[in-house]
Amino acid sequence: MAGLEESLRATLGGKAAAKLDAAFGLTTTGDLLRHYPRRYASRGELTDLASLRDGDHVTVFAQVEKVRTRPMRARRGQLLEVTVTDGRARLALTFFNKVQFWERQLIPGRHGMFAGRVSVFKGQRQLAHPEFKLLGADDAAKAAEYAAEVIPVYPATKDVSTWDIEKCVQIVLDTLGDLDDPLPPALRERHGLVGLADALRGVHRPADEAQARTARVRLKWDEALVLQAVLAQRRRAAAALPATARPARAGGLADAFDARLPFSLTAGQREVGAGIAADLARDHPMHRLLQGEVGSGKTVIAVRAMLQVIDAGGQAALLAPTEVLAQQHFRSVSDLLGPLGQAGRLDGAEVATRVALLTGSQPAAARREALLDAASGAAGIVIGTHALLAEKVQFAGLGLVVVDEQHRFGVEQRDALRGKAQGARPHVLVMTATPIPRTVAMTVYGDLDVSTLSELPRGRSPIATHVVPAAEKPRYLDRAWERVREEAEKGRQAYVVCPRIGGDDGASSSPAGADTDIALSGADDEDPGRPPLAVLDVAPALEQGPLAGLRLRVMHGRLPADDKDGAMRAFADGSADVLVSTTVVEVGVDVPNATVMVIMDADRFGVSQLHQLRGRVGRGTEPGLCLLVTEAPEESKARQRLADVAATLDGFRLAEIDLEQRREGDVLGAAQAGRKKSLKLLSVLHDRDLIVAARDEATDLVDADPDLAGYPALAAEMSALLDEEQAGFLEKA
Ligand code: ADP
Ligand code: MG
Repeated sequence: MAGLEESLRATLGGKAAAKLDAAFGLTTTGDLLRHYPRRYASRGELTDLASLRDGDHVTVFAQVEKVRTRPMRARRGQLLEVTVTDGRARLALTFFNKVQFWERQLIPGRHGMFAGRVSVFKGQRQLAHPEFKLLGADDAAKAAEYAAEVIPVYPATKDVSTWDIEKCVQIVLDTLGDLDDPLPPALRERHGLVGLADALRGVHRPADEAQARTARVRLKWDEALVLQAVLAQRRRAAAALPATARPARAGGLADAFDARLPFSLTAGQREVGAGIAADLARDHPMHRLLQGEVGSGKTVIAVRAMLQVIDAGGQAALLAPTEVLAQQHFRSVSDLLGPLGQAGRLDGAEVATRVALLTGSQPAAARREALLDAASGAAGIVIGTHALLAEKVQFAGLGLVVVDEQHRFGVEQRDALRGKAQGARPHVLVMTATPIPRTVAMTVYGDLDVSTLSELPRGRSPIATHVVPAAEKPRYLDRAWERVREEAEKGRQAYVVCPRIGGDDGASSSPAGADTDIALSGADDEDPGRPPLAVLDVAPALEQGPLAGLRLRVMHGRLPADDKDGAMRAFADGSADVLVSTTVVEVGVDVPNATVMVIMDADRFGVSQLHQLRGRVGRGTEPGLCLLVTEAPEESKARQRLADVAATLDGFRLAEIDLEQRREGDVLGAAQAGRKKSLKLLSVLHDRDLIVAARDEATDLVDADPDLAGYPALAAEMSALLDEEQAGFLEKA
């Protein structure tokens, strides 16, 4: 009797094993048994043939309608043409050899599964030489047995069909012996979960849908518990690490900063700030995620935390995802600090520190000075991109790292910085402007504590959002540009955002340079037709057309740093009316005088991203206006998404809509390659209760038995997961 470690070569023979390895990377019986059916088909089910798309590899359920042979035109020999149907649409199957052999089997009236790549020939969808398996056997006994079954449909490839996989799985299941169950018996009992072997049989060979469901719940628990146990161990290990305590000190910079603030903190800011202050006072490192909408006042919180650390004799680093944002942070932090950030300068306050900016593109002299200030400790705050971590930047005493991660779900940076503070670990605060649904935070940021700023500071102006259907109603687009002119006449400013830079970036729909990851999820249901609009095309067209006479500047990730800085400055000081840019303006950029944002080809952006973008307007006293320009057809999903964005300002709701529309794997992001692979059944969207319960169970288990010595099967699964994550990181590097 075999366990899950048995090689497929030994169980299935070399040929089948090689195919499974090549197609899916499956090498052990455990791998194969965790290659779960994508879904279950019921007997008699027919695939909607009209929905098949050219080029897709598909497995369809259909009924043979008619069969005919005819001589081939170009070559000698016969061609067999079989038409299958779902009762409405038809699909042609063509076979070029062994014609009589196939003809004997494919009798009109029979049901079967047909697998192959869809092509279109003379306007007719077809599968050339498909693999197939007929359903319903000839003898009655077998037919009855069949009829009781639910048919598993596996992820398949052109070389390995779903019924090939089914056959291999049956062989493995038949040899399966006793299995070590990673779920402790007491836990299974508490949650009414079946044992591992039963679950594997139930998921692959269910008697009915209910049994498949029961099996899947149990197998989801495996995924959730293993991951949460890893995270619980990480939290525990991190909590045990030494860090230098940085307690608040009365009469220091932090107090002076509070006294200087032109507004009073919101209740949420005070509460979150107090939590962070308490974390910093402990002699174990803080690992906290601070989430809050753009404009919710995260930066202010981060600056107060940094000042507390400086007051306690340490330094703080603030890391931004792009250079533009690092510069932006440098300006806004310097502004917030005023004389408190001008130590050693004429206008510096008595108690003061210095803010240093470190970027790859700054002049050598400025860079030298910044490096020196970081190393000597003269700069209490050092601001740079994430690359700062990779470099040989020396700190006198790094006490806090603030990571402005915005919408990125990355963990590598956080790992990299743990080596930066000599001896003790620095405290870590990760800021993100994307509201992250709780279970996603638990899964992706499971080793962090989470704080949320849920109210916007008072006095923030509302943002009105409208969809501009440029294709159906060109008048609306004209009106959009008129609105921009009107605002400019009142002395206000506008953003125009395009999905692409243009120039030599090719006319593909690839993300706009290195600026950001654009979610091009809009490309699902409309004909992409033309490439997305580009900054370098739109700007001159506006300058010579509807916005003639206004002062335009362009901004994108390929501009030299000086030009970026110049454009940002011009826009910030009001000497430009309109900034035409890629999504570099998405995050952090703060120009209160900007009141309008026009987003071109808005359907090319994800919901959360649009929400982030529009957060750039309405930051002053005037209400903001965001216009989502699109050519997507009225009934398309893309239009629905835009309508959703226009209908609500609730970032959490939009984050959920965004998640629902992405594939599950994308939710976890590229940095989570291992995790993606290990979460096959578990959905961070739909299995919230299960994830929360698994987290509680995992925390208890790890508290009681930190190394899980009493749970060897669970521990083994956990190290397998860690190996996969490791492999994921290596792949990326
Ligand atoms: P975030 O970093 O979350 O986008 P910021 O900290 O940059 O938000 O704050 C956005 C703007 O709101 C800034 O101009 C900031 O000075 C201002 N602000 C922050 N907190 C408050 C508050 N409690 N009351 C009024 N304005 C605030
Ligand atoms: Mg900010």
